Amino acid sequence: MDDKKIHLHHDQAVWHPCTQMKHHETFPPILITRGEGVWLYDATGKRYLDTISSWWVNLFGHCNPRINAAIIDQLGKLEHTMLAGLAHEPVIALSERLSAITPGDLSHCFYAGDGSSANEIALKMSFHYWQQIGLPDKTQFVSLQNGYHGETLGVLSVTDIPLFRQTYAPLLRPAHPVPTPDWRFAADGVTPEEHALQAAVVLEEYVAQHHAHISALILESLVQGASGMGMYHPIYLRRAREICDTYQIHLIADEIAVGFGRTGTLFACEQADIAPDFMTLAKGLSGGYLPLSVVITNNTVYEAFYCNETSRAFLHSHSHSGNALACRAALACLDIIEQDNVIASNRDKADFLNQCLLPVRAHSSVKNFRHCGMIWAFEVENPREGFVRWFRQKGLEQQLLIRPLGNSVYLMPPYSINQEEMEWMAQGVLQILNAM
Ligand SMILES: *Cc1c(COP(=O)(O)O)cnc(C)c1O
Repeated sequence: MDDKKIHLHHDQAVWHPCTQMKHHETFPPILITRGEGVWLYDATGKRYLDTISSWWVNLFGHCNPRINAAIIDQLGKLEHTMLAGLAHEPVIALSERLSAITPGDLSHCFYAGDGSSANEIALKMSFHYWQQIGLPDKTQFVSLQNGYHGETLGVLSVTDIPLFRQTYAPLLRPAHPVPTPDWRFAADGVTPEEHALQAAVVLEEYVAQHHAHISALILESLVQGASGMGMYHPIYLRRAREICDTYQIHLIADEIAVGFGRTGTLFACEQADIAPDFMTLAKGLSGGYLPLSVVITNNTVYEAFYCNETSRAFLHSHSHSGNALACRAALACLDIIEQDNVIASNRDKADFLNQCLLPVRAHSSVKNFRHCGMIWAFEVENPREGFVRWFRQKGLEQQLLIRPLGNSVYLMPPYSINQEEMEWMAQGVLQILNAM
């Protein structure tokens, strides 16, 4: 072995995502060796409650016996095969079920591995659709201020988080952000519904002027996650649907973070009683077990690609599209959602956690306390220098894995959390606030 390798600190070989590696000198990463339910255990045996579902992916706890069993069963049959020219039972079953449970006429599933790729696919498919039907000028994408759709180059163009975007701006397509309906930015005395309607007016003005060049509007349904769990009234989705219909523009609903019950309904769009033209799903799709994402679209889009010529097909692929193990994990999650009546039971859990969080809500440093389904968030007033890392460190002392976004603190626990764990979590957050 050469010297360089011997002297390499154990955690320097891994270049961690979204991390200034030098910060590891003061706060080294925690070595996790085991997970069980909402708990993660480190190498010393200490445990931490995963209050953020490991970056919003986990639905039913770590090492869930039912999901484990499904994957193990699949592992004995087929781990993976390419999806061009071949198919397998898990991907067929998953596609049929997704088509049955998603809103409206969404019925054709195109797979990838992560959320960003799913959004890339939706953008490409939307653009390509207009080419196919003879509207080649529709090449632009409208997105929401503070929106997040991933960080690969294509979707970074429609992501509006300066920290992620600014450095790479010269590489990106022109952006067309319209005002966010997020109620945090409403003027005093304006209701969430009024604020959403005001934002929709500006959307309509923009679209009315530019629709000949617009392919799609892409948005996160109900909750803008990466901008700090900004929540908005469902009327905006309703208006967005109407505006897209009026001006012949696709609506892409990014439900990567909010799909599968996060907002209190199976899909967030249901709360506005609309169906998008494309819905993108990832994260909770496999219960957070394996990388899996999907774009689900309607028959109109599908038909525009359906003909004898290869060149008119959607020629896009990822090596692991529709991975069999990941699809089995996803099917196991859908079973749990149905068999355990998860949407209804989450409602009871949310009521309970709201009770537990009353002292947090009333805390003098807490602003904009808000809640939607199984997501809670608030801003901390006058945060100290290095607030995010300080809060995270204090959280670990309370045995909570928690990771604020700027001065926005949020809780997004796995649905499998029980009452005792919810009390623990709420108590821990209060302790941290009291230590500020
Ligand atoms: C996480 C996320 C993405 C990106 O998904 P990755 O799997 O991280 O690439 C896209 N959109 C939203 C709304 C997300 O929360």
